[in-house]
Amino acid sequence: LVELDRAHLVHPVASYRGHERRGVRVLKSGSGATITDASGRRLIDGFAGLWCVNAGYGQNSIVEAATRQLRELPYATGYFGLGSEPAIRLAAELAERAPGDLNHVYFTLGGSDAVDSTVRFIRYYYNAKGLPQKDQFISIEQGYHGSSTVGAGLTALPAFHAGFGVPLDWQHKIPSHYAYRNPAGSDPQAIIAASLTALRGKVDELGADRVAAFYAEPIQGSGGVLVPPPGWMKAMRHLCSELDILFVADEVITGFGRTGPLFACSEDGVIPDLMTVAKGLTSGYAPMGAVLMSDDVYDTIADGAGASAVGHGYTYSAHPVSAAIGLEVLRLYEAGLLENGRKAGARLMEGLRSLSEHPLVGDVRGRGMLAAIELVVDKERKIPLPASADPSRRIFDRAWDNGLVIRAFGNGVLGYAPPLCCTHDEIDAIVERTRMTLDQTLEDP
Ligand code: PMP
Repeated sequence: LVELDRAHLVHPVASYRGHERRGVRVLKSGSGATITDASGRRLIDGFAGLWCVNAGYGQNSIVEAATRQLRELPYATGYFGLGSEPAIRLAAELAERAPGDLNHVYFTLGGSDAVDSTVRFIRYYYNAKGLPQKDQFISIEQGYHGSSTVGAGLTALPAFHAGFGVPLDWQHKIPSHYAYRNPAGSDPQAIIAASLTALRGKVDELGADRVAAFYAEPIQGSGGVLVPPPGWMKAMRHLCSELDILFVADEVITGFGRTGPLFACSEDGVIPDLMTVAKGLTSGYAPMGAVLMSDDVYDTIADGAGASAVGHGYTYSAHPVSAAIGLEVLRLYEAGLLENGRKAGARLMEGLRSLSEHPLVGDVRGRGMLAAIELVVDKERKIPLPASADPSRRIFDRAWDNGLVIRAFGNGVLGYAPPLCCTHDEIDAIVERTRMTLDQTLEDP
């Protein structure tokens, strides 16, 4: 498999051939929060795959729901006015639980195409209102919104732009709220004020009559788990209303119990105009994402001038097997997974905070089962680990050898997003194996 992988399988990467040097690690099976590789080594998956296997591995009821649907009807298109029962039911269940009047659900295959779809819907929305000049989009530095052309352009991570001709000329950024390294300081009110000033300034610069929408993750995930101060989302949402631009919450990572509740926006007291979800929606058991839209956005697009002339859809939109999985995953969240995740999340945060005293740990941050620690060689001056230590690869490898999968971001940030089904013992093991990994890194950077 390692040889075949080297020869033929192109991995999703920020730089090519990294995995080829070491050889792929083939994963064989999973159960709960544990995965087993082809050599029989068992590890705790502290990152739930790619922040997605929220329900954990080997959940029989999900497998049964998928199998039933595969037998009954493996595929139905949403075109030609057709549909399938699981997709209709899942849309209704999501609408019922989503904040405010996000009552209309468009299913995609994942997060990137959900983000792409929001851009199209927003353009159609303003066209229908006779405001086609509102075609400029704003997102945030360190933000991640996908790997497609449009999504990568809204994303603000250099590796996703390099050599790719993005961002597109209608995609703009404002600085992140990144508290640990914020020029505005670490005071929450100062950070909120700086973000409000930056958004207002960008909208003034572009012209309020030109700006369509502002995108925010409730917690910036791929940028390094950057948690805004309490009240930040609400303040940004209010400013968008005041400036008459749409507010899009990208909950691809934060949705489905990752931060505690089903949607982080509910906890933030925010009702966005559009919301994107994926990952935990099907908990990684099948590809699926979704855009949730307010009554105003959907009704304007559907009834507006020109609506009959637009087209947008994927062959696998509203896939019945993914939807059947989504329904069962949703049932599991409410039958105890969210509750367990909240308890495990509190223990995870407490455990990681206990590492604050470690000489390498500059910052510990997170909410619920979404967390990160940021490593530095000098705490006072917040100096990152030297690039020569190749923190990403070496720390990932060390943690792996210690029986733990974590995300090691290139800048010495370690990311945590364990399955919500983690037991207390598994959470404690995640913290202890991290401590072991840090001690080894201190001894031999
Ligand atoms: N938005 C956010 C906030 C994400 O974290 C991601 C994926 N990490 C995406 C969009 C893109 O989702 P996908 O990888 O499923 O296309």
